[in-house]
Amino acid sequence: MTIVRPTTDGAACREADPALFFPTTPAGEHQDSQVAAAKTLCRGCPMRQACLTHALEFSEGEGIWGGFTSRERRRLRVLAARRRALDPRVVYELRAGRAVRVPVDDRPAVVHILSRLGWSDTRIGEALGVEPFAVHVAMAAGANAAFYAAAEERCTQDPHGAVA
Ligand code: SF4
Repeated sequence: MTIVRPTTDGAACREADPALFFPTTPAGEHQDSQVAAAKTLCRGCPMRQACLTHALEFSEGEGIWGGFTSRERRRLRVLAARRRALDPRVVYELRAGRAVRVPVDDRPAVVHILSRLGWSDTRIGEALGVEPFAVHVAMAAGANAAFYAAAEERCTQDPHGAVA
């Protein structure tokens, strides 16, 4: 299989075996360690955002791009859509100290927004009525969804700067 990456300049994987990013072994321990090794490279890669953007732009269905497997990219698409659809009044009410029921699927976006507003994990947990562990999980998901949403946005920009 010939694998074309968006760029090799500066990419952390430029000297890695491209097959590392396209596991062909059956699901299991070996595949897990291969995926983990690929993701470790992606985490420190300066091309990560461009790589994910490329995967979205060309609807890459297979492989690890920007540190995300195809399954994770599908999940991120859903989270990014939830983030876009989030009613801003939810965050407004929470900031005003009023109790709001936040559906589990909206939690990553809400936690990520509150964190960026400077709220501590403890304060977020208390406001949402969830354990610190749940805050951490939602925080990671929300940050990844924001990263994905930014990549999606880049896909809709034309080379001349106009947004489609
Ligand atoms: S994000 Fe990962 S797959 Fe993409 S260029 Fe960087 S190291 Fe390679």
